[in-house]
Amino acid sequence: MCSCLLQKYESFLPIGPNTPLITLGEGNTPLVRSQRLEKEIGCGELYFKLESCNPTGSFKDRGMVLAVAKAVEARSQTIICASTGNTSASAAAYGARCGLTTLVLVPRGKVAQGKFAQAMIYGAKVIAIDGNFDQALSLVKSLAKKHPVTLVNSLNPNRLHGQKTAAFEIVDALGEAPDYLLIPVGNAGNITAYWLGFTEYYKAGRAKKTPKMMGFEAEGAAPIVLGHPVAEPKTVASAIRIGNPASWQSAIAARDESGGTIDCVSDSEILRAYRLLATAEGLFGEPASAASVAGLIKLANQGVKMTGKRIVCVITGAGLKDPETAMMERDGLWELPPDLAAIEEALEWN
Ligand SMILES: *Cc1c(COP(=O)(O)O)cnc(C)c1O
Repeated sequence: MCSCLLQKYESFLPIGPNTPLITLGEGNTPLVRSQRLEKEIGCGELYFKLESCNPTGSFKDRGMVLAVAKAVEARSQTIICASTGNTSASAAAYGARCGLTTLVLVPRGKVAQGKFAQAMIYGAKVIAIDGNFDQALSLVKSLAKKHPVTLVNSLNPNRLHGQKTAAFEIVDALGEAPDYLLIPVGNAGNITAYWLGFTEYYKAGRAKKTPKMMGFEAEGAAPIVLGHPVAEPKTVASAIRIGNPASWQSAIAARDESGGTIDCVSDSEILRAYRLLATAEGLFGEPASAASVAGLIKLANQGVKMTGKRIVCVITGAGLKDPETAMMERDGLWELPPDLAAIEEALEWN
């Protein structure tokens, strides 16, 4: 099978004869079954969709490959985006691949180290502003109106079309849509894209049902749950630190049409799920990714019946992107002299 996502799902994508079928090996990510959490929760089957396995380590690559292909098709020379980190990493990679200039606006000092490193090494021009993501997005929207550049945030519909392919892959892998899809919500593009994918596959007869869409914001950045924008969003999960989501209305539509919910989880719930995912399942997602797992645990604790249900949690980004948060975990660390007795003593092996 070809490793080109655009080619594989061409008939579902806005691809014409002049669209370059570029690829960095995005998509076709693993759907890994849970070993322990599934039993603890008591659901039928629990899977993790490892979007962390994309070329730059997040699902953003699925949307970016199409957005950049369309930019190349339109003979654009420059792509621009606002980012909490992963969009900039992805834009910079695909921009480099296609010889475009990539310009990204980020909140200064608020981007996880790995993501920042990616934007730099792929050669993006990075403008760090003393402001948050929402302000950065508003600025790039103005810049894209005034200058001949292509906006590659999820306001660009090609982003969502590319990202919906993850829903196709889940149905292709399971042979049917799951009962529930659990997903972190930041700018709300991804929940919108998955719902688009599930409904398109349903209409095409590739699935007999659609899942309930269960989105999770971080408690300190929960505009959709609160029903109003949050001026200063706060959470450890930087990828969902967003106070005024661009795809707000379509996320609500996804929730309501699917019979799902959009709720929030606290930072301590996120960090507990982040560690659990790593220690109980061997999966290292970034903190924002753990919001889906924290959401699952919250639902289970609320007594939502999941017996016999098939559940998919989307692991949106790779843990290594955010080493600072991972390094807060020091429980298994001993710093000792190079001495056998000292090591045996620390391990209580004497
Ligand atoms: C972008 C991102 C999100 C949030 O997705 P939205 O489409 O903005 O809702 C969640 N997790 C990770 C790792 C991300 O990069």
